[in-house]
Amino acid sequence: MAQIVIKNLKKQFGDFTAVRESSFTIEDGEFFMLLGPSGCGKTTTLRMIAGLELPTSGEILLDGEEISQRPPSERDIAFVFQMFALYPHMNVRKNISYPLVSQGMPRAAVKAKVAEVAKILGIEDILDRPVGGLSGGDRQRVALGRAIVREPKAFMMDEPLGALDAEFREHMAEELRALHDRMGATTVYVTHDQLEAMQMGDKIVVMNNAVVEQFGTPQEIYDKPATMFVADFIGSPSMNFIKFHGKIGAGSSDVAMHENTFAVPQIREPFEGDMAFGVRPEHIELSDDAPFRAEVLATEYLGTTQIITLNTAGGEVKARVSAQQAAKAGETVGLTFDPGTITLFDRQSGRALK
Ligand code: ATP
Repeated sequence: MAQIVIKNLKKQFGDFTAVRESSFTIEDGEFFMLLGPSGCGKTTTLRMIAGLELPTSGEILLDGEEISQRPPSERDIAFVFQMFALYPHMNVRKNISYPLVSQGMPRAAVKAKVAEVAKILGIEDILDRPVGGLSGGDRQRVALGRAIVREPKAFMMDEPLGALDAEFREHMAEELRALHDRMGATTVYVTHDQLEAMQMGDKIVVMNNAVVEQFGTPQEIYDKPATMFVADFIGSPSMNFIKFHGKIGAGSSDVAMHENTFAVPQIREPFEGDMAFGVRPEHIELSDDAPFRAEVLATEYLGTTQIITLNTAGGEVKARVSAQQAAKAGETVGLTFDPGTITLFDRQSGRALK
């Protein structure tokens, strides 16, 4: 069992900063996602936790012990590589037992352990097959088997499903999450796929440009994005930003925007300047007589819902409404917003107003 605390962790490669003072806590037993676009520093963070990279500064505490300078072999953390990282000349049993054999575990104990892991993963019947001819899913299961057989304190997974096609990927994601729920080991999982992070994670760290933008549960990150980057990165279609210039007083729970007043969650700090009115597509309603007008630009039918693209005084927005809702390109409609779901942003800093 393992709690991992990351404190002001930083990594420089020469002049280049790959990870800027990051801090977050991974609780014991969590399925924890490191999410962000390519190059933002996710893999470097994961490699520092596993000991494959030494931090420039900062601390990594594993169950309260500082481990950031220890070699990987002294951390008891398993790193799961992508599915193709198996020993091709060995069969399934040898691939899985390798970490135990190299530790000098007696043969009978190795055999029992491999049988137990094979049962958990449902691969008992392929133990004597060469890995070369296996399907993608079985190869992935063997790679997992090799990682879990040592019973490490925690697992680090770097886009383990990255090489799989979409349908199969979803199936393996479910299997991985179910395996985690059965074993309960702390797992840190790197992905650039926001949907995968939302579906699988107990907690998510969203990174961008070497910086932790936000850390929280999938729901907190979706409902209360801390920055415009997070609001834009999570959700599909992503959050709309209606641009306007205005001010809001301390304790206020409404805002004037483009000659209309809208109810919003209460803001504690006063603000004046360029703002964005952040609203998710599913929190916009079309109503004939609402005073905030918009022109329908396009409609996209999705079966039970449709996505309507509209032009407002603050830019283009997308609304997700019932497929039954009548809307035609060229029409003018009124828009209303679900007040509790709005996030106001300072457009200059990109941060949510609180
Ligand atoms: P990806 O999904 O593309 O792997 P990532 O978020 O995992 O992205 P990292 O692999 O952590 O990103 O890399 C962050 C940045 O650090 C990148 O710009 C990368 O080029 C740089 N970087 C990583 N390792 C090294 C290294 N050994 N030397 C120099 N630069 C590096």
